[in-house]
Amino acid sequence: MKYVGHSVTLDKDKCCGCTICLKRCPTEAIRIINGKAVIFGNKCIDCGECIRVCPNHAKKAVVDTLDVLNSFEYTVALPAQTLYAQFPGMRDRNIVLTALKKLGFDDVFEVSVACDAISRAVTQDLYFDRLPDHVISSSCPTVVRIIRSQFPSLLPNLLNYRSPMELSARWAKKLAMEKTGLPKEKIGCVFISGCPAKATSSKHPLGENESYVDAVLSISEVYPLLQPLLKNIDRPEILARSGPLGVGWAKSGGEAYASQASHSLYADGIENVIDVLEALEDEKIHQARFIELNACPGGCVGGVLAIENPFIAKSRITHIMNHVTPTIPTGSLPEDDMHLDEEVRYNPALQLDSDVKQAMIKMMKIKELEKQFNGMDCGVCGAPSCHALAEDIIMGRGTEEQCIFRKCRKYEERIAQLEKTLEESCERKEHDSK
Ligand code: SF4
Ligand code: SF4
Repeated sequence: MKYVGHSVTLDKDKCCGCTICLKRCPTEAIRIINGKAVIFGNKCIDCGECIRVCPNHAKKAVVDTLDVLNSFEYTVALPAQTLYAQFPGMRDRNIVLTALKKLGFDDVFEVSVACDAISRAVTQDLYFDRLPDHVISSSCPTVVRIIRSQFPSLLPNLLNYRSPMELSARWAKKLAMEKTGLPKEKIGCVFISGCPAKATSSKHPLGENESYVDAVLSISEVYPLLQPLLKNIDRPEILARSGPLGVGWAKSGGEAYASQASHSLYADGIENVIDVLEALEDEKIHQARFIELNACPGGCVGGVLAIENPFIAKSRITHIMNHVTPTIPTGSLPEDDMHLDEEVRYNPALQLDSDVKQAMIKMMKIKELEKQFNGMDCGVCGAPSCHALAEDIIMGRGTEEQCIFRKCRKYEERIAQLEKTLEESCERKEHDSK
């Protein structure tokens, strides 16, 4: 998988330049250039909304394929909890975990084990007042990306724990090394994801020195391969390790509930996330001790790489949580290794200029230029809004000619000028002939 700064790729033959994704992108990262949708990588937060809305299925997430299993001597599947919610009537996680082994993985390690551990640690931290006020969960990579580029003042609020995906990969690798005696490089930890942002995270982890996730497979690829295997499992192996609270992280509110914070707030869907971050930045939120934000509607169950409707998936997660599944003990996991290696840093990619004075001047120029467009945000120019086009022009990646209204106005002005010249010339001729 080639890393290009985000996980979304375009099938140019299928893209008709309809502007639907352009209008949906919450960070104005898309432009239509030569009739095709192009993503500005520095603006993309990997929310997957453009994949979700494209009527032609021209956009898809770049993830690995099952062939990756051949690249390692020993492989461990790391299933996101969302995987359990894809199968009707599923109560026992062990059935899905056993099916993953039948698919070719040597072992499985639930990501919900890491969720359980993080929740336990956060509960303690909250109790002993070791976290910043209004601490924001760092488990959704899209939320972390939007904070680091658009809400840098909130970076100190981010929870300083590894993501469940990274933490479970570290632990799974450690256990596999102990079990097999193989070196780290020969063990492949493969995350099974409903979320394209996790693929980017594994290639470009934030706050981590390195990622322990060797590959990311989409639930939509694994699902049709698992389904026939499930039917033949009467006596599943006991492979589940986590408790119900970790499983509950798959749905919006599950992490906040597991934190046992005295006051918590949770929101899902990218617009709601942005609203909450704006309110936090404006100091309009006073009580929330723990804040859980998920970019996908309904939480991770709403990821674009999942199959099932997020509402149905949420109810299945609750069902699974309510049914006790036999589990094996987690063993000795190094719970002192749960924090990020470094703080997540501000991403200045959206700055107009590194010099504050120059940035202000550019901002004023953008506002001035924007006034000259018609304000309809029609998208015909290939930018999502008149403001975005003005910014593109000032930043040297667009031209005024792109605005069809401005072009028409220029033609009208030119025609009016020619008419005036003609009139004046006729009047002069008439005057000369008298
Ligand atoms: S939604 Fe975007 S990617 Fe899909 S066809 Fe329209 S312009 Fe192309
Ligand atoms: S993934 Fe999200 S942020 Fe990135 S281009 Fe698509 S809609 Fe925009």
